[in-house]
Amino acid sequence: MILLDDVTLTYPDGDSRVTAVDRVTIEGRPGIVTGITGPSGSGKSSILAIAATLVRPDSGRVLVDGTDATTLSRAEATTLRREKIGIVFQQPQLLPALTAREQVRVMAELGGRGTRARRAAVRARVDDLLDAVGLIDQAERRPAQLSGGQRQRIAIARALVHEPRVLLVDEPTSALDRQRGAAIMELLARLTRERGTATLLVTHDLVHESALDETVEVVDGTARPAGLTSRTR
Ligand code: ADP
Ligand code: MG
Repeated sequence: MILLDDVTLTYPDGDSRVTAVDRVTIEGRPGIVTGITGPSGSGKSSILAIAATLVRPDSGRVLVDGTDATTLSRAEATTLRREKIGIVFQQPQLLPALTAREQVRVMAELGGRGTRARRAAVRARVDDLLDAVGLIDQAERRPAQLSGGQRQRIAIARALVHEPRVLLVDEPTSALDRQRGAAIMELLARLTRERGTATLLVTHDLVHESALDETVEVVDGTARPAGLTSRTR
């Protein structure tokens, strides 16, 4: 699980500072997609960067599976991120020279030593995920040979291959048409349930609300619950 507990983030702005995130509390629970919505510039990506431990808030706590990330050194935060957090950015940010399978495998092999058994396990996990995102038949293709939606699917597989407890996704459909966007959202909802990740998903497009279990609305850096949505049991 992930808990942003009363986090505030300011950025420098000339001689003063601008408050991008204002005392926000958001909880992500296993198997649940928590949507973060709100207009452009309201602080959604800043909230996600805090959750990802990429940015340290001015105040408040970030609990990832019980560890307060705001107390960790940079190196410790990197380790926490590598073990517990998967991130899907707005743009897939793939390496042009690598095949789909290699993009996912590279992530799986980060920081680990390759015994033969481990390499075999990683190979199996990579192909299991490529299958889960519907790309097993395109595993040998490079990004230039894939559509935008397929590239985003690789990014999702890559974010999940180290079996993170927390999945953070920022506007995954912004570069896609509505139909492909809906398919990506449904995929994220299914993977969240199947793999039990606590998923925080930023979207400004409420067309995709049916894929969200809960929604938090962010306005001018302040979050308020926008209620439970249709998928909530
Ligand atoms: P959203 O993702 O909802 O569009 P952001 O989190 O990107 O919102 O931005 C929230 C506010 O913080 C905006 O006013 C934006 O201009 C400002 N901001 C974001 N990143 C930075 C930065 N690195 N430096 C200064 N201001 C920033
Ligand atoms: Mg943003």
